[in-house]
Amino acid sequence: MRRPGIAGTIGDVLDDVLAGARDAGCDLFLGSACVGCEAPGRVLCRTCDAALPLDGRVAWPTPTPSGLALPYAGGGYDGLLKALVNEHKEHGVLALAAPLGRVLAGVVRALLAEAAGQRALPSEAVLLVPVPSRRAVVRRRGHDPLLRVTREAAARLRRRGTPAGVGRALVSAQQVRDQSTLDAVERGANLAGSMRSRRDAGRLVERDTRVVVVDDVLTTGATAREAQRALEVAGLVVTGVATVAATRRRHPPGGPVRQAG
Ligand SMILES: [Zn+2]
Repeated sequence: MRRPGIAGTIGDVLDDVLAGARDAGCDLFLGSACVGCEAPGRVLCRTCDAALPLDGRVAWPTPTPSGLALPYAGGGYDGLLKALVNEHKEHGVLALAAPLGRVLAGVVRALLAEAAGQRALPSEAVLLVPVPSRRAVVRRRGHDPLLRVTREAAARLRRRGTPAGVGRALVSAQQVRDQSTLDAVERGANLAGSMRSRRDAGRLVERDTRVVVVDDVLTTGATAREAQRALEVAGLVVTGVATVAATRRRHPPGGPVRQAG
C-alpha cells in the first residue's frame, strides 16, 4: 500500500539515514544483535528489516466482540513481529520503536484505504488513539512502549502526506485482573468499564478526522472493543483498530472474511 512519490522517496532516505544513526549508537553502546535472527550488529538487521510487512490486513478475532470496529494488523503475532514487540516492550530496546512505527503506519494506511472503500485520500486526517497503559506498568517498564510506537507511526504518516496525530484520549479507569488466563468472554467482562475518555476527548478531534484505536497486539479484541466503547461514550466515531500484530486463529479456511466497517 506504499504510495511512491518524491516526498515518499525523500522520507524513505531520511528514515534510513536516521535508522542507521540510531543503530550505530546502539551497536556502540550495547554490542547488540538482531532480535530477528541474532546476527551480530544492528538490533534489526537489513534482511529482517526488509521482511517486515508494509501494510495491513483485516484481522477479525474469533469470536468477534459485538460491534468491534474494523480491525487491521500487520501480520501474525509470531516470529519476527513477536520478537520485535517483546524486545521493545519488555526489554526497552528503544531502537525498535522506529520499525514498529513503520509497520503500524502501514497498517493504518491499509485500514484507511479499506474504510474509504479503496478510495484512500492521502490527505485524510487521522487521530491515532493508543490503548492506555496503566501507570504502574509504565513505571515498571520505565517507558510507555505503545505511545512511543504510536508517535513514530504518526510521524511517518505525516511524512507521507497524511495529517496524523496522536490523541491520548483514553485513561485507565479501574484495575483489571491479569488477562492472560482468561478466555474471550471473561476478558470482555473483566475489561468492561476499565477505560474512560478524557473530559476533553471531543476537542481532540476536528471535523473529517478519522479516529483509529491502536495497540501492539490484537488477541480477543476485548481491549480494543473497550477502548472503542469509551471513545463512543465521548461521542467519537471509531473508524477501526490498527495493531502491529494479531494472534492467529482468526480466519476460516478460504481466506479473510470481509465485513463492512
Ligand atoms: Zn536479522
